[in-house]
Amino acid sequence: MMNRLSGRVALVTGASRGIGRAIALTLADAGADVAIAYRRGADEACAVADGIKARGGKAEALSADLSNPQEAADMVKKATDALGTISILVNNAGVNPSRPLDQITASDWDETIRVNLSSAFYVTQAVLPAMRAQGWGRLIMLSSVAAQLGGVIGPHYAASKAGILGLVHSYASLLAKEGITCNAIAPALIETNMLKGNYRIKPDLIPMGRFGQPDEISSVALLLAQNGYITGQTINANGGWYMN
Ligand code: NAP
Repeated sequence: MMNRLSGRVALVTGASRGIGRAIALTLADAGADVAIAYRRGADEACAVADGIKARGGKAEALSADLSNPQEAADMVKKATDALGTISILVNNAGVNPSRPLDQITASDWDETIRVNLSSAFYVTQAVLPAMRAQGWGRLIMLSSVAAQLGGVIGPHYAASKAGILGLVHSYASLLAKEGITCNAIAPALIETNMLKGNYRIKPDLIPMGRFGQPDEISSVALLLAQNGYITGQTINANGGWYMN
């Protein structure tokens, strides 16, 4: 298992904390050089990058608001200049504005769609030219059980995460002959900041009766980074909540 991704450059968005942080560390442990993209958590993102460097890996923390297409493109350029062509892209950055249904506003909708869905399109489009030129790539996108069951946040979040599945199906089929796979991970209730402050979120929603841990998602990302024959799929890691 060690170093099976050596020589590969990964870009993980939303890697300052939570699931993205775990994915960045797991890919680095497997030998990848990792760009740690974040928005506001500079100290946390630098700590992730320093942890990777302390273990002998290469890492670069880069800040951008990825809901802005120009910032997304600039960030990809900076990551490429620092580490080389991006071979593994993990679109993980996300928000979950949580309020009662009748208080969800148009601006909640716009923010959630832009951060969770549009950013994945912007970053993927920016990464693809060099990835296609090298003929090898892994696109991994964070969906959610919300795409399948509606979830506990609301229609804005569920729609953003269902949109990710459309992106995955399109990229997977368009790129199938080019050595580039594209898959989604659909978690449920992973113990991160996202679970805080929402009274509807309880472990007994999950058949296993517990929240998942970030490393239970990062191990799926590693599998998808290493495997060249899985494409267009949604891998569910949800404690048995949604079964397909
Ligand atoms: P989290 O702990 O809240 O982390 C979110 C990350 O996204 C942070 O690194 C944050 O950066 C970044 N981010 C937010 N807005 C951004 C923007 N405009 N531009 C760039 N980066 C931005 O979330 P998490 O629980 O790890 O979730 C990660 C992904 O998994 C999300 O897409 C989420 O929807 C999905 N997911 C989570 C769960 C769960 O139960 N936790 C379940 C299903 C799906 P800064 O902090 O640096 O600003």
